[in-house]
Amino acid sequence: MTIGRSREIESVRLKNFSGPGRSKIATSMVHDSIWAVCMREAAWPIIAYLLRPSQVNKRQVGTARYGILCANLDGWLHKLRFDEDVPWRLEFARSARASCDRNRREPALANPGEGRNRPPNDRIVKFSTGSNVMSKKLAEKVAVVTGASKGIGAEIAKHLAAAGASVVVNYASSSEGANRVVNEITESGGKAIAVQADVSQPADIEKLFRETMKAYDRVDILVNNAGIYEFAPIEEVTAEHFHRQFDLNVLGLLLVTQQAIKHFGSAGGNIVNISSVVSTNTPPESSVYSATKAAVDAITRSLAKELGPRKIRVNSVNPGMVETEGTASAGITDSDSDFRKQMEQTTPLGRIGQPNDIAPAVVFLTSSDSDWLTGETLYISGGLR
Ligand code: NAP
Repeated sequence: MTIGRSREIESVRLKNFSGPGRSKIATSMVHDSIWAVCMREAAWPIIAYLLRPSQVNKRQVGTARYGILCANLDGWLHKLRFDEDVPWRLEFARSARASCDRNRREPALANPGEGRNRPPNDRIVKFSTGSNVMSKKLAEKVAVVTGASKGIGAEIAKHLAAAGASVVVNYASSSEGANRVVNEITESGGKAIAVQADVSQPADIEKLFRETMKAYDRVDILVNNAGIYEFAPIEEVTAEHFHRQFDLNVLGLLLVTQQAIKHFGSAGGNIVNISSVVSTNTPPESSVYSATKAAVDAITRSLAKELGPRKIRVNSVNPGMVETEGTASAGITDSDSDFRKQMEQTTPLGRIGQPNDIAPAVVFLTSSDSDWLTGETLYISGGLR
């Protein structure tokens, strides 16, 4: 389904809908209710028209995700399942503004309707129009996020899904963490799958994209987040210490990118590399890790030039110290850690970061809001450089 221009959809029979599918949207009208069924994420508000001329009543009924929605003319929106064999008609208009406050659940319908019009008592969500627009900047996009079972990657996956993207939650070994992220996304009405793949291994990278194509049949966004950090004084630097970090943080990132761009369509694509403030801040005992992130910055700038003509944008986000499972297990974000204290003292905004300080910037960089931006390194570090 193309978004942008309003269009009418041909009639289908609702009973034909058996599960989530692409471009399947239906409504039916039952007396004073407009029933809308949207079988995929729709980032655009729905405008429904009653069919009978005497009842022509253009009405904004909601910003649908997927599932089945019913709007009574009183403006209450109900999520429910039903199975009726009725004609329908629906138009979409991107210009319409809608918002849906999912946090406000109401105990009962204001005007529930009678008899067969009454929807089952399921989730009831107050629907309103006007400000507080629910933005779906990444509707219809498919995003692959490497290393998304925890930490910064998990938060990025959730933000991309909340912005409308279908997300591939990649992980190396934490299937439990990846499934938790997927469940959180799907329970909020988003789309996600978990795919195990060690992205320092070429065969696994191919598997990652095979599974992605099998599930979603396209790729639009790649977030190269998977990375490890190890600190060691120069006397303790070994070939293993070097290769562990370079094989994932640099070579893995290049090989994943190489696969991803094969699947980007003619409209191009978007790559965000998760670099680090250490690429230029270069703290002591981080010679190898800092070098991997300096390489990521150089790769970002080089690929932006190389891939720009193919409408592929490449940017990096460079976080300061962020509290994650990884930094917690390394002991560097403990409240009594000297490293953390030193970071807090040297950070203009006086604190370390949280994953949700980082994720919104990735939505920005992968959305059309940043359409003329490529090759940038965006520091999100509380002002630390
Ligand atoms: P984290 O909490 O340790 O999480 C790392 C994620 O990467 C996990 O999902 C992990 O999956 C995955 N991963 C590790 N090795 C992988 C591999 N070979 N293949 C696929 N996935 C792999 O890390 P984080 O702190 O969120 O850091 C994420 C990124 O941000 C890294 O690139 C890091 O360099 C960068 N960064 C972090 C900070 C910070 O302070 N946290 C600051 C600047 C930049 P499994 O759990 O399955 O292993």
